[in-house]
Amino acid sequence: MDREELAPHADELARVLGEKVDKNKIMDDLDKYVNLYRVSLEWAKRDILKKMGGDPDSVGDGSERKNVAELTGAEQSVDLLVKVLTVNPKTIEVGGVSKNIVYGYVADESGRVPYTIWETESVQMKEGSTVIVRNAYTKEYKGNPQLNLGNRASVEESDEVLDVADMPSGGSAEVKIAELTDGMNYVIVSGKIGRPEQREITVSGEKKMIVTGILSDETGSAEFTVWKEMELNDGDEVRVIGAYVKSWRGMPKLNLGDKAEVQVLERGTLGDISGSVPKPRTLEDVELAGGAMDVVVHGTLVDVREGSGLVMRCPDCRRVLQKSTCRVHGKVKGIDDLRIKAILDDGTSSMSVIFGKELTEQMLNISIDEAVKMTTEERNPDAVKEMAEEKLFARPLEVRGMVRSDDYGPMLIAREARFMEIDVREEGAKLLTELEGFN
Ligand SMILES: [Zn+2]
Repeated sequence: MDREELAPHADELARVLGEKVDKNKIMDDLDKYVNLYRVSLEWAKRDILKKMGGDPDSVGDGSERKNVAELTGAEQSVDLLVKVLTVNPKTIEVGGVSKNIVYGYVADESGRVPYTIWETESVQMKEGSTVIVRNAYTKEYKGNPQLNLGNRASVEESDEVLDVADMPSGGSAEVKIAELTDGMNYVIVSGKIGRPEQREITVSGEKKMIVTGILSDETGSAEFTVWKEMELNDGDEVRVIGAYVKSWRGMPKLNLGDKAEVQVLERGTLGDISGSVPKPRTLEDVELAGGAMDVVVHGTLVDVREGSGLVMRCPDCRRVLQKSTCRVHGKVKGIDDLRIKAILDDGTSSMSVIFGKELTEQMLNISIDEAVKMTTEERNPDAVKEMAEEKLFARPLEVRGMVRSDDYGPMLIAREARFMEIDVREEGAKLLTELEGFN
């Protein structure tokens, strides 16, 4: 845009700012923003107004520019400059019709917020890019804002690159362990150290000491690695500043690089968290985070899958045998085992879940010996699976365990399970409908 085209806009800004500012200065700024920095005109005008003490909402289409921390969950139309942390496509059912959506997290220096793109044909985002989001709206979910990009929204790549990793500590929000998400940078989190272990590793020919262990708070646990030598003791309470989160063995892991700082807190600062049970989370939330080491979820068993029931395992490697044959050890005398592979659904998402022998015995109220006897007497290899279908289908459950993500999606490995009396699926579906704004 040449200066002639910009002139009416400079005039408009001067009017809003009350003529007390130098119009040439406004013109120079506008020129620089639009032609040098290649910022959109609307954006440039709002920024100049902000900088010169005017009200940025007095120009443009009424969409308000905010940073993430300012979001309330009640914005009708909001603009943001954010870095795209994660991009996850997903197909959901809305009123019996399949719909493709994309969800994930975006962040700026003030914090991060989950987003959903409802119109995937017209709006796309690329992981790691910095974008200007326009005309989005927000909804509140469990007290936190969620960003929604509907049919009015647009996304434009920005030349300004938000380096969320290099933000000052003051600008980054403290998170809980349950909120740790693959791809997060510059994390501040507090917790109790468990099972710290000094290890020697070799990095490009050089020996190096690192520390691994588990960090826990009242919301969950996560593995951590400190990539340098550090003295940490079991039970130490610490505040970690400037860590990053990367998926490791299908779960978000906390990494403390050179820039990370560890403050050892006075014991008792975090209260007694030993034996505390994490607060239930939605399946969608756990899926978004890319897994978790210790979660509690509520859901309904909607399918008991093949491979459930009585199985034979190899005595050497524990692999499940096919026709008394181990994939590695050949024909062996197998050991009986019980398991249930199922699909859990809470209305926000569904997830594979696996229950081992003890939980299968407990849920079906049958011992493994009884299961073997039943299978033999009925001459039906699927006797236990059929029993599981009968007893568990559509039953609401509370499950605690570990969620690992791989190419096949997240998998919940159950450690505890109990039947619930409420219809968790309906509850979850209601929440989702509210979020979508389709009601
Ligand atoms: Zn084997």
